[in-house]
Amino acid sequence: MVGRNAFPIAIETEDAVPRGRDARVLVVAGGAGFIGSNLMRRLLDQGDRVICLDNLSTGRFENIAALVADPRFTFLRHDIIEPVTIAGPVDRIYNLACPASPPKYRADPLHTFKTSVLGAINLLAVAEAKGARILQSSTSEVYGDPDHSPQEEAYRGSVNTVGPRACYDEGKRAAETLFYETHRTRNVDIRIARIFNTYGPRMDPEDGRVVSNFICQALTGSPITIYGAGTQTRSFCYVSDMLDALEGLMEAPEATSSIFDPVNLGNPGEFTMLELAQMVLDLTGAQVPLVYRPLPADDPLQRRPDIGRARNLFGWGPKVPLREGLVPTIAYFREELQGQQRRTLGGAI
Ligand code: UDP
Repeated sequence: MVGRNAFPIAIETEDAVPRGRDARVLVVAGGAGFIGSNLMRRLLDQGDRVICLDNLSTGRFENIAALVADPRFTFLRHDIIEPVTIAGPVDRIYNLACPASPPKYRADPLHTFKTSVLGAINLLAVAEAKGARILQSSTSEVYGDPDHSPQEEAYRGSVNTVGPRACYDEGKRAAETLFYETHRTRNVDIRIARIFNTYGPRMDPEDGRVVSNFICQALTGSPITIYGAGTQTRSFCYVSDMLDALEGLMEAPEATSSIFDPVNLGNPGEFTMLELAQMVLDLTGAQVPLVYRPLPADDPLQRRPDIGRARNLFGWGPKVPLREGLVPTIAYFREELQGQQRRTLGGAI
C-alpha cells in the first residue's frame, strides 16, 4: 500500500491565488479530505479560485493531485492549529479541517481538540481580517448519545466530557461557541453546519468508518465487522447532497438572524448497521460472513437529523437515497482498491 506521505507536495507557498476578474477567492481548510476535496472540485468548476489548507494528517494528496495544475488552485500545506496567513482578498472560508473518523480522531486526541479549538480561533481571525464569510463544519456528534430521535438543533445533547469521543465532540462544541461569540461580539459573518454521517467517492479506504469498512470488506472478501449487535442506527447522506447543503448554507442570504445559528445537514433516512451491511452485500454480490465485535464505548445508539431548519432557511433537502448513493461509492472503492493492488504489485517487481 502506498504510504500517506509518499506523495510529492507540489505547491507549498504562502502566495494566494491571483484574483481574476469577478472570480471569488475561497479558502477550504481540510481540502484534501473527503468532503473538502469534493467541494473544491465543485467550486473550481463554478469558476471560483480556491486555496486549500491541509496538513495531510488524514487528508490525502491523491484527493487533490489532479487539481494542482489548475492556475486557479493553490495548496498550502499548513496545520490550522498554527496561525494562518493568506495573502490577498478572501471571500469565503469553509473550515472542514479535522479528523472525523472515531479511530482517526482518537489517535491523537489532544491534537484533534486543538484542531477544532485553535483552528477555529486562527481561521476566525482570517475571516475577520479579510471581511470573509466563514462556515464551520460542526457535527451531529455535538448531540453525543442522544436521548431522543430525530435530533433537532435546540437539543443540547448528551456528551461524556471524559469519554473516548470527547476530544472530537467537545472540540466541535467549543468551536461552535467560538464561532457564535466571534459573530456576536465582532460581527464576523458565520455559518455553522452540523454535518451528519456522509459518504461517497474520495473517502479513504482506511478511514475506519462504517461505510468504507463494510464496502472494502465486501470487495476484498473479508468478514463484515459489526460492532455491538448492529442494531444501532445512523442516517447517511450522499456527498453531492452534502455539497448542495454546505453551499446552500454558505450562500443563504441573511434574511433572518437564525442563519447564524447551527443548522443540521444530513439525510433523515435511518438505518441499523445490520441493514447497511445487508445492502452492501446485495449491491456488491459478496458472500462474506458477518463477525461481531464489541461496541466501542459511548457509541451513540441512534442518530437521525431533523432538517426542518435547513429546509426553511434555504430550501434544502437530500435527493439521493442510501441504496442509490452506495452504487457510485462501491464503484469508487473498487477502483481505489484495484489501484492500491497495482501499486503494491508494481512496487514488488
Ligand atoms: N461500525 C460497525 N462496524 C465497523 C465500523 C463502525 O458496526 O466496521 C458502527 C459503529 O460502532 C457505529 C456506526 O457503525 O455504531 C457508525 O460508525 P462510524 O465510525 O462510521 O461513525 P460514527 O457515526 O460512530 O461517528
